Amino acid sequence: MFQEVPVLQFVPSKRGGKILIYKNNSYVQTSSKIRWYCSKKFQTPFLQFMPSKRGGTIMIYNNNTYVQMNSKLRWYCSKKAGGCKSRVVVTEDGEFVTELGGHNH
Ligand SMILES: [Zn+2]
Repeated sequence: MFQEVPVLQFVPSKRGGKILIYKNNSYVQTSSKIRWYCSKKFQTPFLQFMPSKRGGTIMIYNNNTYVQMNSKLRWYCSKKAGGCKSRVVVTEDGEFVTELGGHNH
């Protein structure tokens, strides 16, 4: 007896990434090439990206501004210097994955 092998389909996303289609759901990739997350996970929070005064990019989420540090996939609250531990993890397409820590202000 052969088991039915699930069919995985890969389609290009609007932002140049890849979307995985499996059982009529779409999945997107985060930092890992092995894990795919249901795209519904990313629909709610809206992230805004703006140029910063110093030529970089800042991100706005929940009325807080975030700055990028070493990774393109992690943004740190701009009040980090004041001890704030809030970070936002995004996909390579710049979509919200999760918020870690919380604001202290
Ligand atoms: Zn904060």
